Amino acid sequence: MILLDSVSKTYPGDEKPALDEVSLHIEPNEFVFLVGKSGAGKSTLMKMITKEEVPDSGKIIIGGIDLDYVKKRHIPGYRRRLGVVFQDFKLLPRRTVYENVAFALEIAGMSGKEIRRTVPKVLELVDLLDQAKKFPDQLSGGQQQRVSIARSVARQPKILIADEPTANLDKLTTEEIIGLLKKINDFGTTILVTTHNENIVNNLQKRVVTMKDGRIIDDQKNGGIYKLDETPSLKLKREMQAPGHALKPRPKPRMIQ
Ligand code: ADP
Repeated sequence: MILLDSVSKTYPGDEKPALDEVSLHIEPNEFVFLVGKSGAGKSTLMKMITKEEVPDSGKIIIGGIDLDYVKKRHIPGYRRRLGVVFQDFKLLPRRTVYENVAFALEIAGMSGKEIRRTVPKVLELVDLLDQAKKFPDQLSGGQQQRVSIARSVARQPKILIADEPTANLDKLTTEEIIGLLKKINDFGTTILVTTHNENIVNNLQKRVVTMKDGRIIDDQKNGGIYKLDETPSLKLKREMQAPGHALKPRPKPRMIQ
């Protein structure tokens, strides 16, 4: 479960908040797209989850862990419980595909025997078992992203977050990567993905959360479509819910004599 309650954050030197009272609740096993124009606050929200940034106010609870209580020295351990996929893959260039995945498990404290059992399984999941001995620069962008995904799911995280995982990939490869995330979701992992790709959002028909100016302006629970702006009806609803708004009763229609 991912829970943000009234989370606000203004970066030092900025006037406007990057996150302005953001509340978001994601249930276990959901697949959620986070969309919005550049500067809307998507990456900042992701960084709140990984605790790369801390909020000025508000509460964040991830997989039952209240992040207020995760001390600095425990942050790497906390992050290892999440799966994190990056736009630029972040693979170790001098290690093979196999070693990239094995290394992540080694750091997490898995035994050699378990690692030898697990790595081939995850490489098979991402369809890269036959590329295990290659180095990252011998792979295509899509293959590199699949290694990165293999590495992050190897520890079987309950939650996987991906900030623009397909930003550097072509259309076909993008579909492949999203298909893989969907497969991982089907196995029971909660997924939160930011993207600018309208097609994949519209094709997948999942929950779509839209951000604008540091706020969540729309949350389509199922069959969501890609949209960046607030619809007039939503805007009205939000304004009416704003504190201090006086709900004026509509005048009764006068009878036409
Ligand atoms: P998005 O991911 O939707 O493009 P960001 O979360 O990166 O949005 O940015 C939200 C706002 O916070 C923007 O106005 C951006 O300029 C600002 N911002 C992001 N990171 C920093 C930072 N490290 N220092 C100062 N301002 C930042």
